[in-house]
Amino acid sequence: MKAVVYGGPGTVRVDDVPEPKIDAPGDAVVKVSRTAICGSDLHLLHGKTPGMRDGGVIGHEFVGVVTDGPERFVGHRVLGSFLIACGSCDFCSRQKFNFCRNRRALGLGALTGDLDGAQAEYVRVPDAAVNLKPVPDGLDDEQALFAGDILATGFYAARICEIAPDDIVAIFGAGPVGLFTALAARRFSPERILLIDQDPERVRFARDVYDFEALDTSEMAPEAVVAGATDGRMATVAVDAVGAVGVVKSAMKVVRDGSRIAVVGVYGSERYELPMGVAWVRGIDLRFSGMANVQATWDEALDAIASDELDPTRAITHRLSLDDAVAGYELFESRQAMKVVLQP
Ligand SMILES: [Zn+2]
Ligand SMILES: [Zn+2]
Repeated sequence: MKAVVYGGPGTVRVDDVPEPKIDAPGDAVVKVSRTAICGSDLHLLHGKTPGMRDGGVIGHEFVGVVTDGPERFVGHRVLGSFLIACGSCDFCSRQKFNFCRNRRALGLGALTGDLDGAQAEYVRVPDAAVNLKPVPDGLDDEQALFAGDILATGFYAARICEIAPDDIVAIFGAGPVGLFTALAARRFSPERILLIDQDPERVRFARDVYDFEALDTSEMAPEAVVAGATDGRMATVAVDAVGAVGVVKSAMKVVRDGSRIAVVGVYGSERYELPMGVAWVRGIDLRFSGMANVQATWDEALDAIASDELDPTRAITHRLSLDDAVAGYELFESRQAMKVVLQP
């Protein structure tokens, strides 16, 4: 079958690889109908997430039809979770799937179980009962696609921020995760949501496509821009939806004392010297999300889509054949694309 595989640092290729088969009880094989390229795939290509094997299949956002596996799933259209949880450990039994003791992820390399990914014609999904979800009637593939990864991440991020109606929420990064975090945050009706990005095109996209109050920080420091936008009141919640130390530093500058900062962006080996006294006296509540708790949030995300509260498909800027995946990666990497969907 055809699949997008890792071709060494910075490169992917479309290759012929063996079709996946049931490997363990509980596995399912899914014939992929739609899959997407995620920011995490770029982290993989650039070594931020190390341990991808040459020729390993990439990809973890997908919808498809189960062709083999548990009887109750076969023939059903399903949405997959990027996060592969066991469903039976103490964390899973407490719905904390992202801290599962046997936590793995699809298509993200050796550190997460060396599972082949979903940018392929077929993908094997372990513990299907936990990691696949039937797509609700009335939702098409593209509507459901992101609820197993970046939309669930947005919902999880908004949840851990504990947003209240009097909050001013500053979200750093107007890429897909920032946009979807903002969409989820909107459901808590905070006083303001400010999306912050230094790429004027992404700022424009957030304004035009989702009608967000988006701030361009390409020419001025975020703290100055946020001060200007809030008459000096600043934010009460900040979200790092980028995964860069500079963003955490900026987040600390845009929030008032006693505020929350949620670190949602992916980190690898970066280090940061936290000014302890400043953080302590200011009462900065710094929260790290970890991987998104997909299985605890995807119902909520799918409900919000089904009730027309939000439309994740508006973030899709490019639809390509899986054969054109290399071009898709180039478009995404160069930020010409907000979200690229591939059709095997
Ligand atoms: Zn992802
Ligand atoms: Zn578990």
